Parts: sequence; structure tokens; C-alpha cells
Amino acid sequence: GEYLRLDKYLADMGIGTRSEVKGYIRKGRVKINGQVAKQPESKITSEDKITFDERVISYIVTEYFMLNKPAGVVSASRDKFASTVVDLIEEGKRKDLFPVGRLDKDTEGLLIITNDGDLAHRLLSPKKHVKKLYFARVQGRVAEADINRFQEGINLEEDFTTLPAELEIISSGEESEVLVTISEGKFHQIKRMFEAVGKEVLYLKRLQMGTLALDESLNPGEYRKLTDEEIQLLQ
Ligand code: URA
Repeated sequence: GEYLRLDKYLADMGIGTRSEVKGYIRKGRVKINGQVAKQPESKITSEDKITFDERVISYIVTEYFMLNKPAGVVSASRDKFASTVVDLIEEGKRKDLFPVGRLDKDTEGLLIITNDGDLAHRLLSPKKHVKKLYFARVQGRVAEADINRFQEGINLEEDFTTLPAELEIISSGEESEVLVTISEGKFHQIKRMFEAVGKEVLYLKRLQMGTLALDESLNPGEYRKLTDEEIQLLQ
């Protein structure tokens, strides 16, 4: 987890001003993992237990990672049997990280891993219609008619028709390459939309979610922290 200075942390938590807090530390009123803290500049992480006059000071540091999900890994927090996307994050030894939404086991690409439940809620809320951009390789010749079908909305279930989706053809042949933008997240949605127009998805990769684009320098299985700017833009 993130390293921060003990005195700044206590001040952030409203224990006192920076100089008051330094005084408390000098007087031995602050402990880190049960040991009296001696230095105001001591570095602590979100996993350290900090007490003031024996009272635990809790602080939730929010963390944000973008993972280029590899095929073969499930989008779950933790699983007794299968390895999950959270296991790919070194910092995931902490217990509170989870993926924002799901990609199929064989789908690659952008997945946000965080402990920020509010952000996840905003990005996944069906009311918000956050756009998701995918690259797909598809069996068959994708044509203008498919663009129109996607634009009109595709009836996937008795009582469910997708919102207008943008389909852009990169190349069309026996196998086609396309970009698809959807603003919902139904189970297997893109695969089912292509199935409805008689085509099979051979490869699927998410490139973008809302304002956040996959960093193309990340190979499958690699991840990095989001920048402050990326986090701001997602709010
Ligand atoms: N649509 C799918 O069919 N699968 C995914 O993983 C994501 C979108």
C-alpha cells in the first residue's frame, strides 16, 4: 500500500494540527503496530495499525489499478480454486481490492481494480450508461447491415433490447476486425449481439471504460496504478 508520513496521516485524520500531532508523538501517545512511535516522519502504510491513546485510527486509502486482463483468468475478487484478476496485483495481499465489473474468462483488456466501492457503483450503475469500447475479431464478413442492426438495438432476450451500439469496421473478410461501443453490461453482451447477427466472436478485448483507456504498453497480465489525472477524470 501507499506510504505516508505518520504526522501527516494523523493530521489528515483530524487528530490535530501537524505541530500538535508531532507533540503527541514525542509524548509517546501514538503507536504503530503496538510499538510507541518515535519519529513524526515515520513511514506507514494502509496495513499498519495506528493508535492514538490506544484508540485505533482507521484510514481507508483508496487505490486504483488498471490491469490488462489476460485470457484464462476469472474476474472475481478471490477464489479458492481459480486464480483471479486480483491475484495478479502484487498489492492485492491487502484484502479489500476487487475488479470493477466483469470480463469473460477468455476476454482480455482493461479492468479497473480498486477498493473504491463508490467509484465502482458509479461506473457500473445501469442508469449511468458508461460507454465501453471493445476490439473484436469476428468470424464472418461484418457489413453495413450489421452496423445498422447494432445502431437500432438488438433484441437479446424476450424483454431486453440493447441500447444503440456503435459498430466500426476495421477490416471485413472471412474474419473481420471491428470496434464496438456499448453502454450496458449484460452477461456475454457483445458475443450475444454478434450471435444475433449470425457471427461468432473469436477474440475480444476491452480498450476503454468511460474516460479511461487501456495503456497499450501493458502486456496481458501487466498492470499499473492509475495516475491522479485518470482518477479525477473517472469521478
Ligand atoms: N461482452 C462479452 O461478450 N464478453 C465480455 O467479456 C465483455 C463484453
